[in-house]
Amino acid sequence: MQKSNFHTHSTYSDGKNTIRELAEEAISRGFTALGMSDHSYAAKESVYCMSPEGEQAEYEEVRALAEEYKDRIRLYAGIELDGESHVPHRDYDYLLCSVHEIVRKGISLPIDHSEEAFVNMVNTHFHGDMVELAKVYFFNLVEHVARNKTDIIGHFDLITKYSLIPEENEAYRAVAREAIHEIVKHCNTFELNTGAIARGLRVVPYPADFMVDEIKKVGGRILIASDCHYKEKLTVWFDEGEAFLAAHGFVKNEHADLNDRVKDIEIWS
Ligand SMILES: [Zn+2]
Ligand SMILES: [Zn+2]
Repeated sequence: MQKSNFHTHSTYSDGKNTIRELAEEAISRGFTALGMSDHSYAAKESVYCMSPEGEQAEYEEVRALAEEYKDRIRLYAGIELDGESHVPHRDYDYLLCSVHEIVRKGISLPIDHSEEAFVNMVNTHFHGDMVELAKVYFFNLVEHVARNKTDIIGHFDLITKYSLIPEENEAYRAVAREAIHEIVKHCNTFELNTGAIARGLRVVPYPADFMVDEIKKVGGRILIASDCHYKEKLTVWFDEGEAFLAAHGFVKNEHADLNDRVKDIEIWS
């Protein structure tokens, strides 16, 4: 069983539980570490992002609780940094970099708000061409990861959320593989994101099978993360995720280091 989670949302962004509730839940499940990764401020009105003041308050609370809980669990301050956000001037333990909005010709196009909005976006801005959309999305992600000191790549193929991307299409696969090759030049740790399974939207995690194989081929690493928004779902699909990674040839290192600060956690390589 995985004993940590590094993709966790609290009420500071769009999670349903407080950081304290999440820490208690993690302890009750035998975790040795928990990383908080609320959504960064993205310089615009948004229902899911933190405000600049919220970022500061969240950071301070994680640090205070880390001290309070230090004998029971290691609590880390991370952030899910959006492609359009600036790195906050705070001393985070790790950055989880994700793209939730495609930026094209200066316009931000949300990916994961709703299926209807996604379809409208593809038709209006990409002439219905999913591969063209994938090119721009992955270009945004690579640029984001290269620009920031990324520790973990968040939900690598979020654009498949509504199962509308032709994942068997060779042109799409080539675009995705190319993105993996570019990304590992800057960050070699991806998450196996089980969050959409928790919400009943998918039956498989991000990234897709062929991407996991490609990550293995280029020497990348994967950690299992639940993109937790409800404490009850903190470890959803973790056992299945372990079997999934093992089936793809990955081996678990129970004492791996994410970076200089987050050490001794489970990462597969
Ligand atoms: Zn996300
Ligand atoms: Zn998230």
